[in-house]
Amino acid sequence: MIDALAQALAELDAQGLKRRRRTLETPSRAHMLIEGRPVVAFCNNDYLGLAGHPELVNAARQATVEAGVGAGSAHLVAGHHKLHEQLERELADFVGMPDALLFSTGYMANIGAITALVGRGDAVFGDRLNHASLVDACLLSRAELTRYPHGDLDFLEAKLKASSAKTKLVVTDAVFSMDGDIAPLPELLALCERHDAWLLIDDAHGFGVLGEQGRGVLWHFPSLLTPHASRLIYMATLGKAAGVFGAFVAGHATLIEWLVNKARTYVYTTATPPLLAAAVSASLRLIAAEDWRRERLHALIAQLKAGMAGLPWTLMPSDTPIQPLIVGDNAAALRLAEGLRARGLMTPAIRPPTVPAGTARLRLSLSASHEPADIERLLAALQELA
Ligand SMILES: *Cc1c(COP(=O)(O)O)cnc(C)c1O
Repeated sequence: MIDALAQALAELDAQGLKRRRRTLETPSRAHMLIEGRPVVAFCNNDYLGLAGHPELVNAARQATVEAGVGAGSAHLVAGHHKLHEQLERELADFVGMPDALLFSTGYMANIGAITALVGRGDAVFGDRLNHASLVDACLLSRAELTRYPHGDLDFLEAKLKASSAKTKLVVTDAVFSMDGDIAPLPELLALCERHDAWLLIDDAHGFGVLGEQGRGVLWHFPSLLTPHASRLIYMATLGKAAGVFGAFVAGHATLIEWLVNKARTYVYTTATPPLLAAAVSASLRLIAAEDWRRERLHALIAQLKAGMAGLPWTLMPSDTPIQPLIVGDNAAALRLAEGLRARGLMTPAIRPPTVPAGTARLRLSLSASHEPADIERLLAALQELA
């Protein structure tokens, strides 16, 4: 059995698809130390530069003194700490939804919410470029899964119309994690209204970045807020722009109460350390108060786009901090990433099966913790490698 695995790994390696981890020796930030070498990272999802912020560190430290480290048990047993309770209220208010529920991770939030809402005899519809956690959740639900071509609402509408399932659920990334584009959510919601379907929006990459005060994609498209809240299931993660860890689902109070009872990844797992909830609360205050972080991010995105002219690779059309540089071939993407790495720039090559075959890319992600000089350095290195 081990020989079979070793052979399969060798095949992955031959296709340029084998992955390995590099060990980080500093907090996650734009300038960090990896395996003894200083690098400028264009690979973090810490879009606002909050992951190592002293106010978050202090909030976590203070909460550790007051609440200890481990939560001790699941939320429904005795692990639901007042710091969790308080954060759920703050998150619901921040995104403009009636109620919210914390999950350990975004992966678990998607699995828990989707499997609690649809099952055998129901139908679930997902964009072909949805995040793996949404795809896995749909498969695990045992509902009939239709994957529609990226953004193809006509295709989706035909399938919704043809379905006689009792419960229908449409699931989509808000900002597509490997492309950086934003889903046409008002149109998707209108479709869901016409065909009486739930709409689950995974805002892992929009929360903190999009909308007034970084309140997320619902505020980027204000028409999504009430009175539609009752068919919307809003999910966002807390380990990306929020700089901490975890995730939450927000929606109607009845929906949230259902998830408390039925989401298996909520019921059957230990609550996250309360200190993380305290750190997220501190992060929320900075996200709301510090518009300069989003302004700076947009200036850096504009600088990168302007500097790409004349290079042989193109950026995908994206106005979010996810700026994918399409290379195409797996080995070529790896070589380009290696070349940048040799110049102290960390840019992960994203290859199939994470993205479709033939679209291997460098997924450049920008952060408010980058300096304009970091972007200049990246552009100069790309020029050299071209
Ligand atoms: C990162 C991500 C997740 C998973 O969130 P974790 O908290 O890292 O488990 C879910 N959905 C999308 C779109 C993501 O990018």
